[in-house]
Amino acid sequence: MFEALMIRHTNGATTTRLEQVDPASLPQGDVTVEVAQSSLNYKDALAITRGAPVVRHFPMIPGIDLAGRVLHSDDPVFRPGDQVLATGWGLGEKHWGGLARMARLPGRWLLPHPAGLSGRQVMGIGTAGFTAMLCVMALEDGGITPASGPIIVSGAGGGVGGMAVMLLTQLGYQVVAVTGRAQLQAYLTSLGAAEVLPREALAPTGRPLEKARWAGGIDVAGGEMLATMCASITQGGTVAACGLAGDMALPLTVAPFILRNVRLQGIDSVMCPRPRRMTAWARLARDIDPTRLDSMLHDATLAEVPDLAPRLLAGHIRGRTVVHLSAS
Ligand code: NAP
Repeated sequence: MFEALMIRHTNGATTTRLEQVDPASLPQGDVTVEVAQSSLNYKDALAITRGAPVVRHFPMIPGIDLAGRVLHSDDPVFRPGDQVLATGWGLGEKHWGGLARMARLPGRWLLPHPAGLSGRQVMGIGTAGFTAMLCVMALEDGGITPASGPIIVSGAGGGVGGMAVMLLTQLGYQVVAVTGRAQLQAYLTSLGAAEVLPREALAPTGRPLEKARWAGGIDVAGGEMLATMCASITQGGTVAACGLAGDMALPLTVAPFILRNVRLQGIDSVMCPRPRRMTAWARLARDIDPTRLDSMLHDATLAEVPDLAPRLLAGHIRGRTVVHLSAS
């Protein structure tokens, strides 16, 4: 038996609790992994507190991220003892995920553990850091360089936003961090933000175009904040949109696109093709500042996760939470 967080839906109610699970009930897959660390992402918190629509079927082990050691492999790429990681691909949504001491999954979802990073660092980065790197790569694909001008990042107090601030700073960009928590000023400055703005800086004004202020943007909020961000980007700039922490709607005109040549690039980390994943993780291993990463991380046991999930959704958690499976 192995310990897992299990989401069940019975009589119209969703419950999440620790259970002992028979390894024989693990889903299909050619690699079995002893999970050492996972992490708590926004999507995990939604799954744990609300179940559907993140969870596609029940019972479900949440956890879109996992890192650990291969126990058994029918995939010739991996051998017992290999250190591996996986993010996305439907883990914790339609395939049992990483908030458990054991997982079975297709080998093609796994990546080798990046050299030079500990398991805690890999899951500290997790989907949030991977997504932040995909956003940075999207800005680069749009032709943005540090010389283009400042980059604005929303939700900077959270996982994706904080990782984006840190990565952009490491790459030489001038970063403007947006947060709803004024008390995070010193923390965001320590991650490298040159300026910290309140969310109201991205409040709607009703104008189709705002003063052009930023060469690029990374947005986790969606809604009016993303709309105002797009309307405030300089000629030829790019916005990478990856989240909906504020709103799924997008009240926007076409003005930024047809009058300023602004590019709005969506980011999906879940189905990101393997070659781009490899590139992103190689760059994360190279570009992460370990001291700044460490300042973003909190540690938790599996048993603590159900209480942490609503706190994350309420915006009360700073940075990233690493969940240690061996300690629970
Ligand atoms: P997180 O750690 O909870 O961070 C979200 C941050 O957004 C919060 O810390 C808060 O930062 C800000 N925020 C919260 N409520 C807000 C609101 N109503 N309006 C504006 N900002 C608000 O979550 P995360 O793991 O970084 O994920 C952030 C978003 O990205 C989520 O929507 C998640 O689903 C999405 N995401 C998407 C992908 C993808 O592949 N597309 C991958 C990862 C995450 P401040 O307090 O600093 O303002």
